[in-house]
Amino acid sequence: MVQSYKHEPFTDFSHDTNKNDYLTGLKTVQAYLGQDYDLLIGGERISTEDKIVSYNPANKQEVIGRVSKANRELAEQAMKAADHAFNIWKKVKPEVRADVLFKAAAIIRRRKHEFSALLTKEAGKPWNEADADTAEAIDFLEFYGRQMLKLKDGIPVQSRANEYNRYDYIPLGVGIIISPWNFPFAIMAGTAVAAIVTGNTILLKPASTTPVAAAKFVEVMEEAGLPKGVLNYVPGSGAEVGDFLVDHPRTRFISFTGSRDVGTRIFERASKVNEGQIWLKRVIAEMGGKDTIVVDKEADLDLAAQSIVKSAFGFSGQKCSACSRAVVVEDVYDEVLNRAVELTKELTIGNPEEQSNFMGPVIDHNAYKKIMEYIEIGKQEGRLMTGGAGDDSTGFFIKPTIFADLDPNARIMQEEIFGPVVAFSKARDFDQAIEIANNTEYGLTGAVITKNRMNMEKAREHFHVGNLYFNRGCTGAIVGYQPFGGFNMSGTDSKAGGPDYLLLHMQGKTTSEMY
Ligand code: GLU
Repeated sequence: MVQSYKHEPFTDFSHDTNKNDYLTGLKTVQAYLGQDYDLLIGGERISTEDKIVSYNPANKQEVIGRVSKANRELAEQAMKAADHAFNIWKKVKPEVRADVLFKAAAIIRRRKHEFSALLTKEAGKPWNEADADTAEAIDFLEFYGRQMLKLKDGIPVQSRANEYNRYDYIPLGVGIIISPWNFPFAIMAGTAVAAIVTGNTILLKPASTTPVAAAKFVEVMEEAGLPKGVLNYVPGSGAEVGDFLVDHPRTRFISFTGSRDVGTRIFERASKVNEGQIWLKRVIAEMGGKDTIVVDKEADLDLAAQSIVKSAFGFSGQKCSACSRAVVVEDVYDEVLNRAVELTKELTIGNPEEQSNFMGPVIDHNAYKKIMEYIEIGKQEGRLMTGGAGDDSTGFFIKPTIFADLDPNARIMQEEIFGPVVAFSKARDFDQAIEIANNTEYGLTGAVITKNRMNMEKAREHFHVGNLYFNRGCTGAIVGYQPFGGFNMSGTDSKAGGPDYLLLHMQGKTTSEMY
């Protein structure tokens, strides 16, 4: 009997045993740094001359691994393998498909700190952020496995006398999974296994900055017993392999997590019916955010400052859920701002392998350049309170940065920065604060810090975001507890870790028999 779902607890690193386990994980990872990883197509490992080299963002010299790079020919081969495997996999019982996920979760749980340490090395995640990423991957496996068991017999429908009606869900076909670097384990694994457990076969194209974490996950799925060709691992460039697969007539659906620009491009391309294509492609897209924490005048102001700082600077603000705007009612504006500045000045930043560092680097040189450009824009648009500087001599480090007194329409109040930068804006009253919060093309997360129940209800109704939190920060949704996904340009309103997520990977089939 499958036990009921509970999320994987976070590790308490104040205990020496846990701390030592993590350090052992780091040693394990250290020993396999710089290795080569092959493509996996139809169960065969294929090595290419051309490689994607993955570097440690905290130490640019350190190579995490060299990953073979697919081209169009290999992508075509992978599509054929996935197409072929679909005919077999779709007939495998849902219970058996779910078992593969449960087994994979068990394998990852046993090697938890090794995977977290790999995320520290490859993505620059501090210990607790890496630990949360690994825990979330386990959660997706456990949760989606159970969700599939719930859906395996379809949903009951009515039948009249002498009639037998059924409503079942069947898989779609071959899916393309294009996963992000900011949750290189959790979102990569979650989007992959949601497609797999529902009976589809996939081509996984991970982010080019974090392909080793994905390669390790692919090994876990093989070990868990996934048949050949169900999961094909094809890292490659977006322009060459990404576009080719999105356009491919055999592609049935695309599950993408990443930037608004790339998501929009995929959405547009996928809408075109190409030669030989006999369906309309489905797109599941999780894109950006411009997330706001609103602080009311009746509020716990310490909690407000802590929530802003943690949500803005956790993993250097590189979450689509990160707080990049704080909108504070004028009566308490100065107090919250000053407290947030004080807390930010206490943050430690440096190599994420050191447990004591709250913040590590940003992911790569391009991110560093883009964020530093936004910091220059912020200096023109607002008042720099703290931070505002970077150092890319050994890794891509940027100080946690706060700007004050922003006009709601300023660029740093409107554009996604995806770095450790938060902008403060003053509101006349609570209603205006919600108005400013809604003044964005995104709609992913938001939080309201208030003791006023009526204002809370007002926000519940009017604050237009997919994930709204009260009296806490706006990051850290838990699978199965806070289904995650946003409105408007944040994506296709799909809720990862939610009760209806798997349905996006299936189609309903009605059968009706007369007795
Ligand atoms: N699910 C994560 C959270 O709630 C964010 C995911 C993302 O940044 O893509 O913080």
